[in-house]
Order: sequence, then structure tokens, then C-alpha cells
Amino acid sequence: MEASGNLSKMKTRIEGNQVEYHLHLAEEQIKMNDIIGKEITLQYQHQINCVACGKKTSKSFAQGFCYNCFQTAPEAEDCVLKPETCRAHLGEARDLEFAEKHCLIPHYVYLAVASGIKVGITRNTQIPTRWIDQGAWKAVIVAEVPNRHIAGVMEVFLKEFYADKTNWRSMLKNELAENIDVLAEKQKAIERLPEELKQYVKHDETVWELNYPVIDFPLKPKSLSFDKEAEISGVLKGIKGQYMLLDQDRVLNIRKHNGYLVSLTAE
Ligand SMILES: [Zn+2]
Repeated sequence: MEASGNLSKMKTRIEGNQVEYHLHLAEEQIKMNDIIGKEITLQYQHQINCVACGKKTSKSFAQGFCYNCFQTAPEAEDCVLKPETCRAHLGEARDLEFAEKHCLIPHYVYLAVASGIKVGITRNTQIPTRWIDQGAWKAVIVAEVPNRHIAGVMEVFLKEFYADKTNWRSMLKNELAENIDVLAEKQKAIERLPEELKQYVKHDETVWELNYPVIDFPLKPKSLSFDKEAEISGVLKGIKGQYMLLDQDRVLNIRKHNGYLVSLTAE
């Protein structure tokens, strides 16, 4: 198998609880689960194309943008990382049409366990994608809110009690924090919300569980980068989050290399 193209985050789906990954390189769609256990080689072609405009860029900003798009593209607006700053509900955004599809739609506020428990938000269309991208193995929806801004406000509230970042090393080492009872935490989170936000609580007891295709987890994950080495090869031990796990505890964050032109071979 051989393919080449610009990297973008792996597409995911679930079959039962099992996560399946597809990597799109130009026209090719590689079923990554099928090449786990095989020797793979990724060769960086020393070219980065902006994920928004496609132009060559010597450096990637905010995971794949050229500097101009980083400053102007709606996909790179501040509210992507800081939803509480979203002003689309006031009619203000870099691109209102984009904001109507991405900000002014129902969002979920959730609790997920990747390493420890964390709070997060996502568009209603991104479940369970968002959790998979973070390598979470368990998640519950706490609330469904009408737009990104309110989701951000609720998240800020809950950040006083929960982390909002995943510890990627613990996540990749598969430190599961199995003692955490997510439904009990959901109840606590609800009680902690101010009155005006309680109206958005989603009253159900669904607990999502996700299994990742991994043969061996790294004991001491060492992060690889195409900026340091153009050729990366080894046995693919599995995939978790947006990381490819290779032998000798090496891990490659695909998202960090969005827009990088690479070729992939697998034996
Ligand atoms: Zn661009």
C-alpha cells in the first residue's frame, strides 16, 4: 500500500464501541485499523499547504493554517479555542454564514475521561468524533445549549471543578482513571451550575464507551515531529486520539501536522 497527500486529522467512526480510523491522503482512503501491526513508513516531502486556502506555507499556524488564514479564516477564529468569546449570537463573526453553521447551532457540554475527568464542549454533530479525537474512553453529555457562546459560558463555570485539557501522555499510556463514576460526576456538575444554566441540562443516563485499536501502549511516550525528522518508520502499534503509536514508545500527533505533504507506505 502506498499513498501520498496532505495530512489531515484521521476520520473516525464507531462500530459498536470499537473506534475505526481512516486516513485520507489525496484520493486514497486508508483503513488504518487494517495496517495496525504492520511496518509503516511516513516520508515528509518538505511542503506544507494551508488547510484553508491550499497555498504553500513555510510554517503552520494553529495546526495547519498559513499566517494569512490564521488571521482571517473563520475556521481559525478565537472562538474555536475560546467558545465563551463567540459573538455570533450578536451578529458578529469573521464570516456570518460560517458562524450560522458552526456557532449558532446546538452544542453539547460534556464530561469525558481520557486520563482524568475533563469538561468540554462540541457541536451536536461532533459526537462521538470530538471524544475520539481526544482519546477519551468514557463520556456523558451534561447539557444541550442553543449556541456556542452559552456552551462556552457553561464550560468556564465547570472549569472551576474540572480540567479542560487532556494529559496526552497519560492518555497514550492508557491510564484510564477507572474509579471515576461519570454519572455521579454529571449529577455533581448539574448541582454546581447556576440557576439560569440549569434549564439546558440533558436528563439522560447514557454513558458512551470507546475502545481504541491498540496492540501495545507506550510506557514513556516520545513525541515525533516531521520538523525534526523527515522519515518516520516502524511498526504501527495502534491509534488513540489523533496519535499513531509506533514501536519504541514513539508517537506521532497527526493533527499537529495538518497540511504537511507526506507519503505513506505499509507492508
Ligand atoms: Zn491559507
